[in-house]
Amino acid sequence: VKNRGRSHFRFYSEKMKRGTKHTMKIETALRKAIVKDELVLYYQPQVDLKSGVVDGFEALLRWQHPHLGFISPLEFIPLAEETGLIGPIGEWVIKKVCSSLCDWKRLGYKPASIAINLSPLQFQQAGLVEFIKKQMIINKLSPGQLEFEITEGAIQDSREALTTLNQLKSLGVKIAVDDFGTGFSSLSYLKRYPIDTLKIDQSFVKDVLLDEKDEAIITTIIHLAHSLGLNVIAEGVEQLEQLELLKLKQCQKAQGYYFSRPIPEEAVIKHYLQDIPN
Ligand code: C2E
Ligand code: CA
Ligand code: CA
Ligand code: CA
Repeated sequence: VKNRGRSHFRFYSEKMKRGTKHTMKIETALRKAIVKDELVLYYQPQVDLKSGVVDGFEALLRWQHPHLGFISPLEFIPLAEETGLIGPIGEWVIKKVCSSLCDWKRLGYKPASIAINLSPLQFQQAGLVEFIKKQMIINKLSPGQLEFEITEGAIQDSREALTTLNQLKSLGVKIAVDDFGTGFSSLSYLKRYPIDTLKIDQSFVKDVLLDEKDEAIITTIIHLAHSLGLNVIAEGVEQLEQLELLKLKQCQKAQGYYFSRPIPEEAVIKHYLQDIPN
């Protein structure tokens, strides 16, 4: 027993060491990822459910490392937050989206909006609003073409959060609450904060056909959005039946694998630029 215990311990500590090494390796690589041009944005279509038309996209970050391979944002975004790298990475995302919108417009394509995820830390960073403003001017974006997705955690009752949101709004951009309903927060911020959109979290959509409670929550969020005059979008829609239910409940927009996975910029240009009438 004693021996086994010891070897067990050794196994664990080896594993932990490997874990730390792995993390450090990724951290070092992440520092270089921007300059080495390893980050790329994918775009997931957002569909207007009344017209059936794709009128926007969510920008989702991808990291393709030459040796480590594909690394999920679920893995490297938290690491970027811990190490402060979320600052430069977040700015890279904003810059890239703005310049792509400008490129697409030159090619004759102007989506209603692109949604950009903002991490809570990034949201607190001084200079964020100025940076966004600068990129909007350089790329001659129309107001409303950018939508920023923030989680309830980022906008915990604070004066600073309200100030930043108001400054963002004054640029003409839109604000969406991502993963709505999962943040354990009170709803009172919806009264005071300049929110445009509620984004129904995919965990509610996932089992909506099986679980009456998920269905009740979705119904309530849609009603809440309508009563407050907010837009509402459901994410994680994978099946026709989920879509039908959301339409029945007057959900305004949806995104998910049922319509399309996130796609690279070349695919956006290929598929959506063709739809433009001359
Ligand atoms: P999120 O903002 O909640 O994004 C939705 C995630 O669900 C994305 O995962 C998307 O690819 C995935 N998804 C979309 N449709 C479906 C579907 O029908 N079924 C399922 N099962 N999943 C679907 P992804 O791209 O791996 O991103 C994960 C998270 O990483 C995002 O969650 C977001 O929190 C974060 N993230 C991604 N890009 C950025 C970024 O540029 N900045 C920041 N701060 N965070 C980002
Ligand atoms: Ca999001
Ligand atoms: Ca989400
Ligand atoms: Ca999420």
